[in-house]
Amino acid sequence: MIDIKNFSFAYSKTPVFDNIDLQFEKGSIYGLLGENGVGKTTLLKVISGLLKPTAGSCEVEGRKSFDREPEFLESIFLLPDELPLPDSATPERFFNEMAVFYPNQNLDMFHHLAQELQIDPSRKFKEMSFGQQKKSLLAGALALNTDYLLLDEPTNGLDIPSKADFRRILSERVGTGQTIIISTHQVKDVENLIDPIIIISNNSVLLNASVERITEKLFFEYGGQQRPDALYSEMMPGGFLNVLVNDGMGESQINIEGLFNAVLRNQSTVRTMFV
Ligand code: ADP
Repeated sequence: MIDIKNFSFAYSKTPVFDNIDLQFEKGSIYGLLGENGVGKTTLLKVISGLLKPTAGSCEVEGRKSFDREPEFLESIFLLPDELPLPDSATPERFFNEMAVFYPNQNLDMFHHLAQELQIDPSRKFKEMSFGQQKKSLLAGALALNTDYLLLDEPTNGLDIPSKADFRRILSERVGTGQTIIISTHQVKDVENLIDPIIIISNNSVLLNASVERITEKLFFEYGGQQRPDALYSEMMPGGFLNVLVNDGMGESQINIEGLFNAVLRNQSTVRTMFV
């Protein structure tokens, strides 16, 4: 479990988080959603021990991240949005060089994922498109097989078929016990993949809830008229999407962009609703 308590973080003069509490349970694929600049990368760096909390604590399995104990370092991998890749490097070499630090790494899994993602692990990164580089790194990161895998904006630069591959490959990790945190501002890319969903904004956590809990509290109505009591409405083919307070309306299918906009526009209402 990742346990963040009374946590604040600031870069010299830029406050990013102000006294937040956040827990990540083991074995789920979390979506960490927020607009550009809200602090998603910062939070992933704190969890992986690259940055120290300004106040409060961040612990993974009871170990303070910033202490960077060997058992902690073996259990977690952060794949950044962009990595400097040496000209002569290949995905295979990248994986082999990283693998020595991760005892559960799995070379067969790396080759299998590379095949599924249609990338050639022996090709130089510099001869690949940005999307192919990204997919190669993703295959490597998954095959390191760490207990905790943090993916920062992993769908940036992927084309539409690659985004579908990404969702398929990640969904295969459900039930493996691995905890994955995917940070993104492109919320549509992780629809039907992430559960629980975390939304951050304004130095704080606006929502941290399972899909089940969200659909208990909110109702997503598709088609029909725009509703004046909706937390958020948007035109869609065949009428409107209305995000409503679920007043005994039953279950509905989450629309992630609708949820994101409803939460950002009704911050105090949503906070009270999910306390
Ligand atoms: P996100 O990943 O959500 O786009 P970041 O965590 O990258 O957000 O950034 C959060 C805030 O911190 C932004 O205002 C950004 O400008 C600022 N910031 C990020 N890195 C640094 C840094 N190294 N020094 C100073 N400010 C930074």
